[in-house]
Amino acid sequence: MPAPRVLFVCHTGSISGAELVLIDLVQPWVGESAFLFEDGPLQQALTAKGLKVRVSRWGEGLTDVRRDSSILKAFPLIGRLGAIIAELTREARRHDVIYANSQKAFVLSAVAATLARRPLIWHLHDIISSEHFGATQRRVQVALANYCTAKVVVPSQAAADAFIAQGGRKELVAIVPNGLDVPPDVSTPLEIRRELKLPEGPLVGVFSRLAAWKGQHIVLQALAKTPGVSCIIAGAALFGEEPYAEKLNRMVADLGLGDRVHFLGQRGDVPRLMRAVDAMIHPSIDPEPFGRTLVEAMLADVPVIATDAGAASDILEAGKAGTLVPPGDADALAAAITKVMLRPPELAGQLQYAEARARSHYSVDQMLQTVSGLIGRA
Ligand code: UDP
Repeated sequence: MPAPRVLFVCHTGSISGAELVLIDLVQPWVGESAFLFEDGPLQQALTAKGLKVRVSRWGEGLTDVRRDSSILKAFPLIGRLGAIIAELTREARRHDVIYANSQKAFVLSAVAATLARRPLIWHLHDIISSEHFGATQRRVQVALANYCTAKVVVPSQAAADAFIAQGGRKELVAIVPNGLDVPPDVSTPLEIRRELKLPEGPLVGVFSRLAAWKGQHIVLQALAKTPGVSCIIAGAALFGEEPYAEKLNRMVADLGLGDRVHFLGQRGDVPRLMRAVDAMIHPSIDPEPFGRTLVEAMLADVPVIATDAGAASDILEAGKAGTLVPPGDADALAAAITKVMLRPPELAGQLQYAEARARSHYSVDQMLQTVSGLIGRA
């Protein structure tokens, strides 16, 4: 049987975790197509992977429509949305399977795939809950998923449970954990720190886009309680979270952390930065559907301190492969940082266990094989 012709659809041109997954996922599909609602670094990245990338004429600025906007606020956009659906339907007719990689891409793809009579796979990278989506949005998403998809791919049991709790059909769900490969690196942490001009002494790092629910402010509160520990914060406000970025800067000044906290902006060298720190902190306040940085740190032999919400407990095997702390608790986080900085004797075994677990459970190859199988059977 010839390989199906696949159309990958994504609403954003920026690259956060979900788009990094897509960039890996398209590897077996050289020569196939992607349809993006706007241009940006993702367009270049997918083109570099050998995809034919088409950018909508009507999608620019759509990413600024907040996920929790009411249906009424979205009304003036309806003409543009209709135009994108028309473009998408034409593209869908030239392909055998549609693969939507984001919530906004999915909603429009559901209409287009139905009109074009093509099977649709939704890669749901979010926890569908009231923290991130309005009630109408949740209802619409789940109804469309139930009626229009061949499969809903989720990265964790936590994401699957949330989808099913909202009324999603259990038999549609396929759990496919994110796969990650980290390039081999023989440099020592000290060499990397010197090269990248990172602070000396105890150093922790946070590596995710700046957003209130990602919890960087809790790290700042914890640092105020852990004198002598410096922190690098990589990541930018990718999806309209600039006021939060400004709040973080004000907090640094108010808490007197100016000489210990270093904002690095959006980086393309996270695995190398990660190897240079003494601990990686994953401070999300709301449940995470996955948490790529957890696996990246496990692969880099770096201790993980993560909030116990969403998929983190699964990935860290309930604390066997890293330290779990309650979400939003600066005191608990400060205590965990202090403990890890002392390098307790059990840490070496935990790091070894974490690396082996990351390699056996979260490889790119496993992810590609499973998703290719799902596309082939759609
Ligand atoms: N990341 C990056 N540059 C940065 C900050 C983060 O490339 O400056 C990467 C990070 O290494 C990880 C991803 O962005 O692979 C974030 O994924 P995660 O699952 O932690 O969160 P998401 O963005 O999907 O909510």
